[in-house]
Amino acid sequence: LPTVIIMGRPNVGKSALFNRLIRRREALVYNTPTDHVTRDIREGVAKLGDLRFRVLDSAGLEAEASSGSVLSRTAGMTRNVLGRSQLVLFLIDGREGLQDMDLDVGRWLRKNAPGIKTLVVINKAEKLDAFSGSLAASVGEAYSLGFGDPVALSAETGFGMSELHEALKPLLEDYMLQVLTGRPNVGKSTLLNAILQEDRVLVGPEAGLTRDSIRVKFEYEGRTVYLVDTAGWLERTNQEKGPAKLSIVQSRKNLMRAHVVALVLDAEEIGKARRSLKHAEVVIARQAVEEGRGLVVIVNKMDLLRGRENKKTYESVINAVPEEIQTVIPQVTGIPVVFVSALEGKGRIAAMRQIVDTYEKWCSRLSTARLNRWLRKVVSRHSWKDQAAQPKIKYFTQVKARPPTFVAFVSGKNRLSDTDIRFLTKSLKEDFDLGGIPVRILQRCLL
Ligand code: GDP
Repeated sequence: LPTVIIMGRPNVGKSALFNRLIRRREALVYNTPTDHVTRDIREGVAKLGDLRFRVLDSAGLEAEASSGSVLSRTAGMTRNVLGRSQLVLFLIDGREGLQDMDLDVGRWLRKNAPGIKTLVVINKAEKLDAFSGSLAASVGEAYSLGFGDPVALSAETGFGMSELHEALKPLLEDYMLQVLTGRPNVGKSTLLNAILQEDRVLVGPEAGLTRDSIRVKFEYEGRTVYLVDTAGWLERTNQEKGPAKLSIVQSRKNLMRAHVVALVLDAEEIGKARRSLKHAEVVIARQAVEEGRGLVVIVNKMDLLRGRENKKTYESVINAVPEEIQTVIPQVTGIPVVFVSALEGKGRIAAMRQIVDTYEKWCSRLSTARLNRWLRKVVSRHSWKDQAAQPKIKYFTQVKARPPTFVAFVSGKNRLSDTDIRFLTKSLKEDFDLGGIPVRILQRCLL
């Protein structure tokens, strides 16, 4: 379960929100001894609509901190608890308005929790009136904390909990859905086992042994990863019926929902054939990229190409695969290719590294300010052959991550041509290290 911590200065209603989130469920209270003081942190499982998460109430951390800075005495400990959390609910009091202490908490969070998402929650908002403007005023103040869109609610009455749900849902979806795919017998199950270092999946020589998709969940570098091994569906045709057909449909669905698709190839087969990718593999790779999935190519069974007699084959495999990937998917440069031996457990760490890197790039968000500074440079760097045809890009913004999607707002009569879009995409990828993942640029015309 993802972990959410409720923070804020005293009396903003942290415990009230905690209680509402866990409702009648048991809260676990544990003592955490620090240098001189013992603090209680309550922990419980929150259920909010279809969301379940672990919630921590940091109220106990502030008990003795009434004088001076809220967090000074317990800062080390709070940092500890923060380290376990994916998200901070930063509570403020909508009736009292923003206080200096709130600003302190904000600064402290910015300094100590830079990688942790923060959602500002305006509590005690049940009486804030949308008509008199008091709600708008609170929201405006909350914005000024610099953590983005706030949510207004009342922990006391339950008002606004559905909005909290809406806001939390996308923020808590930080798991990685990784799909292993490839033809039967390329070694997907063996690789899956190597990654997990546990014999949880059946491995055997017969093709199609792992017929149905297998899904395992594990923690990797503090992130939840769902790894789906799609059975070798690539060579089955659409003529299949019944359960086989269902399993194909399911596999395809899994593939298109994946955050990162890991396409596994067999090095020995590549060594024997003249082409690295069989038709079905090309189809999958292309489809993954077209659907906006991250793609990592894993060439397995490299151990079979060891030894002096295989030196030439070994080298040609190492060179040919990245080249061929580039040829069949020209729109995405730098798709990572990793060479492994699942049987010997070699290269599995490098493979996971690439997969996680790809996932992180795929989730990246660039600020509009940064993008527009970049845009000005890029446009001045580029010379349009036909000056009259040069489009006027007013501004450029990222509208979505997963995969990164941008909109260029264009004014005047000229539109961005395909060439312009390719140029912008290429520059964007180079300048912001977004190589290897699909990046989309759309254009909107301003009147
Ligand atoms: P899947 O159908 O893609 O899941 O393939 P499996 O994982 O069941 O593996 C098929 C066969 O290839 C098994 O006999 C494995 O032992 C073998 N295999 C898998 N990975 C490697 C590897 O890295 N090197 C070698 N030599 N054999 C492997």
